[in-house]
Amino acid sequence: MSTTIGVHALVRRTHEERVLAALRAHGALSRGDLAKRVGLSRTTLSEITAKLLQRGAIIVADTDAADRTGSGRPADRLALDPASGQFLGVDFGHRRVQVAVADASHEVIASGVERYVDDTSWEARLAIAFELIERLSLETGVHYGALQAIGIGVPGPYTGKRAGIPAVSWKKQLAPDGVDAAFAERFGAPVFVDNNTRLAALAEAITRRDAVDNLIYLRLSDGVGGGLVVSGRLVSGAQGFAGELGHVVADPAGASCRCGKRGCLETIASVPAILAACRLQGVPLESLDELAQAVSKGDPTVDAVLREAGTMIGRVLGAAAMALNPGEVVLGGEIVRIAPVLVEQATATLRYELYPIPSAQPIIVRAAQLHDTDGALGAIAAIFHQSPLLAGYPEQAIPDEAAQKRRSTQ
Ligand SMILES: [Zn+2]
Repeated sequence: MSTTIGVHALVRRTHEERVLAALRAHGALSRGDLAKRVGLSRTTLSEITAKLLQRGAIIVADTDAADRTGSGRPADRLALDPASGQFLGVDFGHRRVQVAVADASHEVIASGVERYVDDTSWEARLAIAFELIERLSLETGVHYGALQAIGIGVPGPYTGKRAGIPAVSWKKQLAPDGVDAAFAERFGAPVFVDNNTRLAALAEAITRRDAVDNLIYLRLSDGVGGGLVVSGRLVSGAQGFAGELGHVVADPAGASCRCGKRGCLETIASVPAILAACRLQGVPLESLDELAQAVSKGDPTVDAVLREAGTMIGRVLGAAAMALNPGEVVLGGEIVRIAPVLVEQATATLRYELYPIPSAQPIIVRAAQLHDTDGALGAIAAIFHQSPLLAGYPEQAIPDEAAQKRRSTQ
């Protein structure tokens, strides 16, 4: 994960977030009331609100003339601009880019998708994404002058530049170099980029009412990818390969894998591998739709293929679970919704693999809540998580006045 935030900018963003959080929680407020609520001096607050007004994050809603009892000039009351995009999530898949825009209250206020062909260059993908983002603005009235952060998901392993390692991809020509710089330059907001399956893992961990600190995520799709959340943080590893459980060997005598090894989980549990196994057993399936029909008819051959895949998934997850002791294991991908037997079988095998380990709270194994098409939401979830104050909102963001007094007298 790469970030581009300086210390000074971070302090300013933290102040801005406190102001935005107060307006989010209380509705329109005068500058005087805002200063008291967020614990900033009038001078600092004026600077912050001037910047926010200039960027279009907030507007002058009305004045406090109606509530005023004393004499004196009525004060402007400031409020969030409901059309102001604060967070931009972008998910670049192999064949489409998806965009979502969230406002200051974390509500998604615009979203859209645009398709492209598999071998589209990164330059062209960026142009398509920017066009989509502008079109959303025209169609919905949302604007981007106040973006606080941009999260971007890309396919393939990704380490970013922070680790000093160039971005790599299974398909080398698609290495998404320069994606972060292009967005930072265009929108003037902090950008970070990570592998989109990993962002989905984080989204699964934090978009629930009770955030899960330790989670293993596995996505079954054209390939098999994964992500690890450990102690509340996404793990990238030394070279960006952490969580690539699809390339753990499940059957040493199995089919050759695109990574160069033999019998990786991907050669057994990816969608193409499952369809191929069905065909090999005499059930001619070519698509997920056809698989869904076979499952709903209760085809015993298809059921056996799915159970075999579920068993292999459970074995690989069992080894990972021994290493990480996660609170939850999540299976994502459309095929998991179509064939719940995959989760059922993987759960049974995982429990068996972990059997001798006593546990008061057994690991929860479940299907993903977010769809594959929700990648941009994963990117947004990741920037909420990164944002210094929003991560704990609302508990942290607005200290009450008594607490502020205590702090100022310490
Ligand atoms: Zn492999």
